[in-house]
Amino acid sequence: MIDLFSDTKTRPTAQMRAAMMEAEVGDEQMGEDPSVNALCERVADMLGKESAVFLPSGCMANELAIKVLCRPGDDVVCERSSHIVHYEAGAPAALSGVTLMTIDGDRGRYSVEQARAVMRKASFASPGTRMICCEQTTNIGGGALWELDDLRALTELAHAHAAFAHLDGARLMNAVVAQDVAPSEFAYGFDSAWIDFSKGLGAPVGSVLAGSRDFIDEAWFYKKQWGGAMRQAGILAAACSFALDHHVDRLADDHANARRLAEGLAELPGLLIDPSLVDTNLVFFELAEGDANAFAAALQSHGVRVSVVGPRRLRAVTHLDISVDDIDAAVAAFEQVIFSTSDSE
Ligand SMILES: *Cc1c(COP(=O)(O)O)cnc(C)c1O
Repeated sequence: MIDLFSDTKTRPTAQMRAAMMEAEVGDEQMGEDPSVNALCERVADMLGKESAVFLPSGCMANELAIKVLCRPGDDVVCERSSHIVHYEAGAPAALSGVTLMTIDGDRGRYSVEQARAVMRKASFASPGTRMICCEQTTNIGGGALWELDDLRALTELAHAHAAFAHLDGARLMNAVVAQDVAPSEFAYGFDSAWIDFSKGLGAPVGSVLAGSRDFIDEAWFYKKQWGGAMRQAGILAAACSFALDHHVDRLADDHANARRLAEGLAELPGLLIDPSLVDTNLVFFELAEGDANAFAAALQSHGVRVSVVGPRRLRAVTHLDISVDDIDAAVAAFEQVIFSTSDSE
């Protein structure tokens, strides 16, 4: 199976597993795990923050940031396709009691003007904006990249309104490689920022959330309360450190493969896609007609797995376990599905 469902499908390599085997470990929640401590220091440094905490998931990173920085009743500004809106099980409302003020942006991004238009000051009658969120890169927005200046302008707008800025960096390292900008540059001005290791970086588990020392101290309280405090987590942190050492630069291969896939699909009849919009490793495309679920099922029977994100919209994601040959084989499988479907009609 050529699994383009998500970059979460990567499996730890033999070398990563060897690094995990050799990890020095201790009691994570007592601050005694040397591998976790080293990873947190490294990521805090990379993101230009005072402190960091190791977490089991990126969802927990987003939700801890909202919990610590907001109060029930506050507004959180984000783009309509955001992960916090669609894929975190309603946690912003359920765990923190905030309202998500969504913006219809451009491929998951929004402008300062759009943010300003929905931000409000609290009064006795209306809630106020406490946080703005940005995803770099955007997920359902299509792996799009924010320009550094646009992120800076938004963090400044947030602070001018006495609000916080949060960076969902699930795929921040994809942006780092695609734009040749340091992670600390992207995270500059954000009160909280995190990166995910279980996406394109290829680790089995783990995210690291960074911010000020006070922010991280408070995040620890909820990490414990929500059941995210761990024990010998160094075995996981070792995989994450290995990923930082060996799997960052190669994200460029995923981007090239995604572009190659998009160009291949653009040649096929019945698929709507603009390869010039494929900036990183996420490839979204539409069916001119027909049903996305049926198409995905047919593809799967030809050995290619993609995900369905709308009635006619699908997503294919390149990652560590996908080679150039896989891309060419996948395009051939698409072709077979399209021609066998048109034959039967
Ligand atoms: C995957 C993802 C998350 C959540 O990360 P998990 O590690 O799967 O919990 C958050 N935000 C974005 C943009 C993502 O793509």
